[in-house]
Amino acid sequence: MIEVSGLGKRYGSLEAVKGVSFEIDKGEIVGLLGPNGAGKTTIMKILTCYMFPTYGDANLNGYNIFDNPLDVKKSVGYLPENAPLYPDLTVDEYLNFMADARGLKGNSKRERIELVIDECSLEDVIYRSIGNLSKGYRQRAGLAQAIIHNPEILILDEPTTGLDPNQIIEIRELIKKLGEEKTVILSTHILQEVEATCGRVLILNEGKIVARGTTEEIGREMKGEVMLDLTLKGKNLSEARVELESLEVVRKIMNSKKLEEEKMNFHLSLDPEKESEEAIFDWAVKKGYKILAMIPERFSLEDIFIKLTREGVKNVN
Ligand code: ATP
Repeated sequence: MIEVSGLGKRYGSLEAVKGVSFEIDKGEIVGLLGPNGAGKTTIMKILTCYMFPTYGDANLNGYNIFDNPLDVKKSVGYLPENAPLYPDLTVDEYLNFMADARGLKGNSKRERIELVIDECSLEDVIYRSIGNLSKGYRQRAGLAQAIIHNPEILILDEPTTGLDPNQIIEIRELIKKLGEEKTVILSTHILQEVEATCGRVLILNEGKIVARGTTEEIGREMKGEVMLDLTLKGKNLSEARVELESLEVVRKIMNSKKLEEEKMNFHLSLDPEKESEEAIFDWAVKKGYKILAMIPERFSLEDIFIKLTREGVKNVN
């Protein structure tokens, strides 16, 4: 389990992380999603005890980052953005080296190495130099070193960056498999990564969490912004604008334009809590307007991400 409370980091005058709090349970894969510079890597470096925060606190697997940094490090497997690989070593030599560094010995060391080779599907390349491996295999070797000591928690910084589509699918599957038993936090700026791999997402922007929840939950929250593109045909359309504005389900007419004589397009913001589209349909029929187009604009995670990170709508910390 990961518990983070009010975490902040200043680099000189730059406050890269600003009072971030979250919890992640065992068996969860949580995505830390944010644009470049949002503070993802900084948070991960703090959670791995690579550096201390300027303020705030965190516990991993029950160990405090200030009081028990060694126990935190033992509990955590870390795959940094650039995996710490030694190109001249073979995969086998590398995993032996990392197992030694993690204090594994004897039979348990050999067993763990064999297990991670199997879990990360490295059998075909164990005697090859890391420098000669494809990026996908190198990433697998990076993941193998991260789990060599069977940590409770996995911290993965942009684990699929630079991989081709097939390699991405393979690594995501591997992360999902590992996530069944471990607590996983992964950072990414790729939205599909979150949708494909993570049960939950924390959207980070300029050092703050601006949204959190499952992708569906965040989508629902954003439903405060349901939009409708409506094109009507009929007489007296200038009156239609006034009437639409007075309908209970219409929050605002964002835009309206006359397309041609007797045809008009409206861009409406609707009340998400009501059957707004139905109410508009009934109103148009009652008034004798023909509906030429009625296109709801649903928010995808991509829209939400752009909205939250460009406009910084709210801070839910
Ligand atoms: P990316 O996706 O580009 O890796 P990120 O979300 O991981 O971005 P961080 O690497 O945590 O973001 O950086 C957050 C901010 O802190 C950035 O503005 C970055 O330039 C700055 N920063 C990071 N490390 C340092 C450092 N050691 N010294 C000074 N500023 C830093």
